[in-house]
Amino acid sequence: MKPLEIEVFLCRSDNFGVLLHDSETGATVSIDAPEEAPIIDALNRRGWTLTDIFTTHHHQDHVEANLALKEKYGCEIRGPHDEAIAIPGLDRSAADGDEFEFAGHRVQVISTPGHTAGHICYYFPDDALLFAADTLFAMGCGRLFERPAADMWHSFQKLMALPDNVTVYFGHEYTLSNARFAVTVDPQNAALAQRASEVEALRNDGKFTIPTTIGAEKQTNPYMRVADEALRAHLGMKDANDAEVFAEIRTRKDNV
Ligand code: ZN
Ligand code: FE
Repeated sequence: MKPLEIEVFLCRSDNFGVLLHDSETGATVSIDAPEEAPIIDALNRRGWTLTDIFTTHHHQDHVEANLALKEKYGCEIRGPHDEAIAIPGLDRSAADGDEFEFAGHRVQVISTPGHTAGHICYYFPDDALLFAADTLFAMGCGRLFERPAADMWHSFQKLMALPDNVTVYFGHEYTLSNARFAVTVDPQNAALAQRASEVEALRNDGKFTIPTTIGAEKQTNPYMRVADEALRAHLGMKDANDAEVFAEIRTRKDNV
């Protein structure tokens, strides 16, 4: 089986469009559908025809182009079971633990409540790819709109259990802001300091910071490092539980 081809591009102001293409079957999936024109442009640039949309959650900046793309290409739309009524054009719903195939590639559904109550991630175990949308960002985590921090921490633990070599595509170019915040809660982390300076350079050059890996996040994402002694000491939370440290970091970021 050939590796999937991946095309990443900007939509709206800071959303990522992501297309996956299987050259043997011609199948092409858009991870979410943030904006019609850039997705169509990317498809035309590559000479691909859209066959599928995998929706991660109901926010407008992830589903806005669902109906227009379905009208144009007749593509099939999958999305989170727990938000089914809020996903325009939904054909098939996906719940935690579901497994299906995309052009012969296994896809597993991981529910990650927190940002929204029904948010799901799509994991391709044989391709070592994760599409995390607004759950996990580079050095960050999605805002908690619909579920408390303890639920998001549980969601994070599911993603932390994936292999370190898994490549992660996320929903927004928020990396610079996340990095600048992360160093304030984890100032003794040399890997983080190094990565933060790399990200400053990338953004100065107008480059994207996508993708990341589970391994890189485990080293530099403060929301994954809540058990770290130095981080806890810095926050004055030596005796708190992991979920409490996670919640404190998220609250501090909200108040930046
Ligand atoms: Zn969102
Ligand atoms: Fe979003």
